Amino acid sequence: TDTPDRTFAPAESVCPFCGVGCGIQYSPKKRGSLGWRGPVNRRGEICVKGAAAFDHVVDDDRLTRPLVRENGVLVPTTWEVALSRVEREFGRIVDEFGPDSLAFFASSNCTNEENYLLQKLARLLGTNNVDNCARLCHSSTVAAMRERFGAGAMTNSLDDLTEADVFLVVGANPAENHPIIFQSYLRPALSAGATLIHVDPRETATTAAADHHLPVKPGHDIPLLNALAAVVLNEGLVDDAFVAERTTGFETLREFLDAVDVDANADLSGVDTADVRAAARAYGEADRAAIVTGMGTSQHHYGTDNVHALLNLALLTGNVGRRGTGVNPLRGQNNVQGAGDVGALPDTLPGYRDVTDGEARQALADEWGVAPPETPGLTEVELTHAFGDSVRGAFVFGENPAITEPNATRIAEKLDALDCLVVLDLFVTETAEHADVVLPGSAWAEKSGTVTNTDRQVMRMRPNADLPGEARRDFDVLCALGQRLVGRVRGCGDDEFGPDDEFGPDDELASGDDRSEQFDYGDPEAVFEEITRTVPQYAGMSYAGIGTWSQRWPFDAASEDGSESGGRSIEGEGIAVLHTDRFENGSKTASLRVVEHVPPADAVDDDELVLTTGRVLQQFNSGAITRRSGVLTRLRGTPALQIHPTDAEARDIVDGDEVRVENERGRVAVVAAVTPAIRQGTVFLAFHDADPLANRLTGDALDPVAKIPEYKHAAVRVSRIDDE
Ligand code: SF4
Repeated sequence: TDTPDRTFAPAESVCPFCGVGCGIQYSPKKRGSLGWRGPVNRRGEICVKGAAAFDHVVDDDRLTRPLVRENGVLVPTTWEVALSRVEREFGRIVDEFGPDSLAFFASSNCTNEENYLLQKLARLLGTNNVDNCARLCHSSTVAAMRERFGAGAMTNSLDDLTEADVFLVVGANPAENHPIIFQSYLRPALSAGATLIHVDPRETATTAAADHHLPVKPGHDIPLLNALAAVVLNEGLVDDAFVAERTTGFETLREFLDAVDVDANADLSGVDTADVRAAARAYGEADRAAIVTGMGTSQHHYGTDNVHALLNLALLTGNVGRRGTGVNPLRGQNNVQGAGDVGALPDTLPGYRDVTDGEARQALADEWGVAPPETPGLTEVELTHAFGDSVRGAFVFGENPAITEPNATRIAEKLDALDCLVVLDLFVTETAEHADVVLPGSAWAEKSGTVTNTDRQVMRMRPNADLPGEARRDFDVLCALGQRLVGRVRGCGDDEFGPDDEFGPDDELASGDDRSEQFDYGDPEAVFEEITRTVPQYAGMSYAGIGTWSQRWPFDAASEDGSESGGRSIEGEGIAVLHTDRFENGSKTASLRVVEHVPPADAVDDDELVLTTGRVLQQFNSGAITRRSGVLTRLRGTPALQIHPTDAEARDIVDGDEVRVENERGRVAVVAAVTPAIRQGTVFLAFHDADPLANRLTGDALDPVAKIPEYKHAAVRVSRIDDE
């Protein structure tokens, strides 16, 4: 951080990357990041990404002035000009086409307070068209778990997972993608004798620690999960007492599983039958077995059904509501859990209450002066599909859909089809290149607020640095936009919003007439206090109570003294193990359900391979910030396509060749990495890059319930480039 014009000072904050939520801060000695002993990384340990977390904060390419598009070119301007243009353009779009012609992309990489402000802004403008990138990673997990268990989140805490006898890790690679969870929670349990079953078409660092590897064929998870459940049933491993007391629908599921041909299902899923049986026995016989699930499970056009099949396994074996058990999604970004919790979703209000729920809408009307709209909005991919048609203006906050959305060639065209695209970010990202207005925001190290990690712990971020140039805190920008836009669209000084003579913490940004008081917050803590009133799971929390530790949802004031509450187990900072006596929806029972195999959206011809996409340790999501880190880029090396030796040989490809990967949606050129670590018939490409842009190849078929795209299965042709 060789930036003499900026001030840095250590303060306990949270790593901006994955959902583990490690505590990090600025180190004057290292002039970079250092772990502190946070509620997750209790020895102050951080991974390589966390260690590089200041690289993008001090990057020379940081935006320091707002930009507006003039004659086709983005040019620097003042905040007044930029915000006035947003106000004018969005106001015109609402006047001409109605509020549902606007879209708001919130950010799972920004704070609860910021996400809350953005969804409130959308809803006070009159639309539920607000979503965040949880849509693209775990919306299917949340949908299935909410429906059956009443809460779309880890059933257990990281702490109690250390007591598991068996881990069934499905579609996740925690050793590389959630390294501190693997190192500090799973690894000690494994060293003490726990068994690891890894379901993944690739051999990864997680597989290296596994006792059983089930290299499932992409797109064939349900036959495998049903085969596991059938073995559990056939071999008398069902927890009869739990099933009788805590589930419904057993007879119907039993009839279905009785008819499952385990050998045929194993064959269909591409896994050896003996391995399937051995893994099912290990899971079914364990006293405490924990499912850990990731995007390999969720990112399919039947992703919700995949999770339902996992829930069946946990319920059949009684592995719910006890320490060391449960179904535990590993969330990808540092606030992907919180962005959903506070309502940055088109179908649910803060606290996951349906937008059609009259009581919930009235409660928000009491808080906001106006009820949110009743009609569910469109989801993220549905919104981008509607760009230029029913959606004319979009606000993208800290996300990069040009890289992260499926069928990316089409997305680029769609971004250009908007009347007005506004991006609030740190850099001119691949999405911002299409924008009409680009607003320079704040990096993680420059902001205050809270984030909620993968095991529901709400933690505080504190500023470690001042802002570069004219960049502003995202909190101030969102307050100013709320005051301006809601003021303009709704009209202020009226009875709904009261007189408007005070403008929030940054008068300059919000200056002008007719500003909404609804965004007149003194600081992020005031927003958090509103969140504790509108998000039932956060009721009773406070900045003071969180301090330098955490409070976990569902937070119960009774937990502060460590006492039991409603029979749920408590670890002092909130409720650790959910569903102990009752599920979070209040029901004593959860349903078991029949889950049928759904074929992948892409048919695969004989000359084609199946592309599956994912992460590497040294990069993060769209790469917008981690590709700027010299150390992370060097550690990663050249992006490469993993291909099995047999598939490579059939195409006359050797390791290091440049190859073309293509289908009807697009093509990329990339170096081949020939390796037996990927199953034959499958190729793997990470999704962090603008070139090769993996999402040129992925399809936009959506899960019918969660509307998550199928990132994990795309038919592609692979050929050596010098074959032309
Ligand atoms: Fe950051 Fe995740 Fe690494 Fe922890 S494990 S330092 S939260 S990227």
